[in-house]
Amino acid sequence: MADEPRPDRPALDIHFPPALASLRPRLDALLDDFDPFAVEETGQGTRRVWFFSPGARDAAARAIQQALGRDGAQAVPRNLPDDGWAERSQAELAAIRVGGIVVAPPWDPPARDAPALVVEIVPSTGFGTGHHASTRLCLTLMQRMHKELAATPRVIDLGTGSGVLAIAAVRLGARAATGVERDPDALRNARENVERNRVAGAIDLLEADFTLPSPQTTSIGTASVVTANLTGSLFAAQAPAVLQHVAPGGLLVASGFTDGEEAGVRAALRAAGAVVARGIEDHWVGLAFRRSTAVGPR
Ligand code: SAH
Repeated sequence: MADEPRPDRPALDIHFPPALASLRPRLDALLDDFDPFAVEETGQGTRRVWFFSPGARDAAARAIQQALGRDGAQAVPRNLPDDGWAERSQAELAAIRVGGIVVAPPWDPPARDAPALVVEIVPSTGFGTGHHASTRLCLTLMQRMHKELAATPRVIDLGTGSGVLAIAAVRLGARAATGVERDPDALRNARENVERNRVAGAIDLLEADFTLPSPQTTSIGTASVVTANLTGSLFAAQAPAVLQHVAPGGLLVASGFTDGEEAGVRAALRAAGAVVARGIEDHWVGLAFRRSTAVGPR
């Protein structure tokens, strides 16, 4: 087949003077809200962020201008020929180990003599190859809570992306998991990963936006362990939509927010109960909450 020219892709060239290094976590968290699909470090203080749609790109540019423009950050919108950079960079991803779990692409399986629970993930359109600190924080917290996981009939994974946390939950002993995802492309990747890991019998994947009332959202139900690697602003705005799925006495493992957003997320998730474990990596934070058994009015 002749090579079709690739369509242009929406991107932002972000100039972030080195003097602003301390604001970098805020920039990362802010970008996360617009579902970028690839980030390319293009030089000192500059990077190119690729988006799925011009709308998301333009909204991200406005948000950066508003939040960090005064500090000297600049975001220049571009439509650029896609030279396959994102695919190439994904093809170079290597396996990563988080405690006793190895998240590996098909081309970098762990050595047979290295004992590990293996989660095979095809890097693609679903977020969650293990190369983001927030995924690793969830995997670490889940291992600290492995007794609960092994005892739970079902884990709910809100925003399952590649399916990595749902698959890891089953590897850690959960009998079943439900992955909820609103993005059909990510869900396709999750399906592929569930098949590859031979856990299709244990994992249900549900296409739904859990913040919107719908029959699908209602069908998610509650579980004694819920994982949710989302964003700080989503937790702040949608805490009740997350909490409705955590059974009384259950655990919520939450990540995807920075240390700067942590206080806001904790306040929003007050009703999630006491924080029983915390992890931090590179300014990203993960928290495990234990919900009280007596759930009163919020
Ligand atoms: N669980 C994976 C992916 C986290 S990225 C991991 O830990 O690596 C967050 C995912 O949540 C994205 O795939 C995004 O599409 C999905 N998401 C965000 N908001 C959502 C919503 N309201 N309903 C369903 N999925 C959502």
